[in-house]
Amino acid sequence: STSAPAHFIRTRIAREFEAGLHQRVVTRFPPEPNGYLHIGHAKSIVLNFAMPDEFGGYTNLRFDDTNPVREEQRFIDSIKEDVKWLGYRWENECYASDYFETLYGYALSLIDNGLAYVDEQDAETIRAQRGTLTEPGTDSPCRNRPSAESRRLFEGMRAGEFPDGAMVLRARIDMAAPNINLRDPVLYRIRREHHHRTGDDWCIYPSYDFAHGQSDAIEHITHSLCTLEFEDHRPLYDWLIEHLPVPSRPVQIEFARLNMDFTVMSKRRLTRLVDEGHVHGWDDPRMPTIAGLRRRGFTPESIRSFCTEIGVTKSESIIPFGVLERNLRDDLNARAHRRMAVLRPLKVVLSNFPEGETEWIEAANHPQDPEQGSRRLPLTREIYIERDDFMEDAPKKFFRLKPDGEVRLRNAFIIRCQEVIKDDEGTVVELRCTFDPETRSGQPGSNRKVKGTIHWVSAAHAIRAEVRLYDRLFNVPHPAGDRDADFLEHLNPESLEVLRDARLEPGLAPAKVGSYFQFERLGYFVPDVDTAPESPVFNRAVTLRDTWAR
Ligand code: ATP
Ligand code: MG
Ligand code: MG
Repeated sequence: STSAPAHFIRTRIAREFEAGLHQRVVTRFPPEPNGYLHIGHAKSIVLNFAMPDEFGGYTNLRFDDTNPVREEQRFIDSIKEDVKWLGYRWENECYASDYFETLYGYALSLIDNGLAYVDEQDAETIRAQRGTLTEPGTDSPCRNRPSAESRRLFEGMRAGEFPDGAMVLRARIDMAAPNINLRDPVLYRIRREHHHRTGDDWCIYPSYDFAHGQSDAIEHITHSLCTLEFEDHRPLYDWLIEHLPVPSRPVQIEFARLNMDFTVMSKRRLTRLVDEGHVHGWDDPRMPTIAGLRRRGFTPESIRSFCTEIGVTKSESIIPFGVLERNLRDDLNARAHRRMAVLRPLKVVLSNFPEGETEWIEAANHPQDPEQGSRRLPLTREIYIERDDFMEDAPKKFFRLKPDGEVRLRNAFIIRCQEVIKDDEGTVVELRCTFDPETRSGQPGSNRKVKGTIHWVSAAHAIRAEVRLYDRLFNVPHPAGDRDADFLEHLNPESLEVLRDARLEPGLAPAKVGSYFQFERLGYFVPDVDTAPESPVFNRAVTLRDTWAR
């Protein structure tokens, strides 16, 4: 799944190279710094970095910071961290706000060429005059205002002579164009908003359409890759490039956004989840943000291979979350060391095991790959097993431990359950078992078969840990698709389960954030950022099998 499949953008660029149209590919990843990056952004990042990697060229990181409200430095910092963590290095760190002066000059040139005018009508009137898909628009009374007068007004807009909303600058294109985006779109608005980088230098701000393509041209971007909702804007993109004194001529190519089930992907909704406290921040492991996925235990490799696998198309689809999880399993299966951990401990006393003695067992870190070495596990008279690996009234097909039944302890020997000890309420609190020394590895009975093998830890040596298990954040596949309800109504109340009495094999005590393990039979786990040597905290990144295939 890691080899790059053909897609229409790669094919198109290859054709352009054959035709000698380019010597290199220059792309940009253009986030608006108004939130954290999510897995949808990863799709765009992977595509924007893959094309120059393959054809030669580079990628800029451009902060699309033309909207002064809601943009913040902490979002810029998180975006840079996430792109780097995904494994990418941008050529230039750019800010659309650095081009405000150049863009202002471009606007003046449009005015001087009779291609833009200042309109003093209010936003409501302008919207009403735009017409519909079947009706042409209506000319503004300002449309034929002399260039010199528009220039004077526009300079006054910049100088702060007029209040917010008093007037706008519009391109003068075609009020009867079938594409409504070409019906004299707004290029500049007056907004007295403090900008996170330019402060109060500006009280007019360019529209997305006026800023984006021109920023591409300034940076000599060859291919401006964006999502499908901008397809209708392409004629305007091209018109502006054609009529402005820009230094290069980029082209815009659109592809389908990534959508995934059981989650939401728009920054507006993700912001609500954070601000209203439904999750513990942008990096909550249940969030589809890069920061959340990283904390949960996803690797950059798994996110990149996922983005490559899903490909690039022109049609929207919804990718099952399980596809991302499968990419993580495939990645970690090959390289995660195996460890033993008991999430819900049940004490087992091995009555024929000498009291006070510790037997050290050599256990492979990876069953298929001896190169990954081994570690020594302590085995003592008292151990913990998983509570649900024992069943008192077990059905026939239950191949784990039951009264008078046998099971193999992973890496050790076969035990038989002799006695079940309960408390006053009838809850099983301890099992008394005997072990068969002949079934140790290297002993004559080591090949004796029993149906089940279970994991365990030595009670005396195990470390206590908190383990966090995650489920889908929403309990319906399309939480945002329900028009009759707020998406928050579909939150899964059981998306986080915290187990505070898990027991881990002792070697896991010093595990640091960034390491990953397979806890045998339980899934892939990583230390959480909350972990500390005295109080380890682990997240389950993913189960061993797709328990979500429904
Ligand atoms: P949102 O709706 O989540 O706020 P956005 O498009 O407004 O997304 P930007 O910060 O402007 O967010 O996005 C930066 C880049 O990432 C853009 O080129 C955008 O098209 C792309 N992108 C955003 N969401 C997705 C997605 N779900 N799939 C693919 N690309 C995406
Ligand atoms: Mg955007
Ligand atoms: Mg947005």
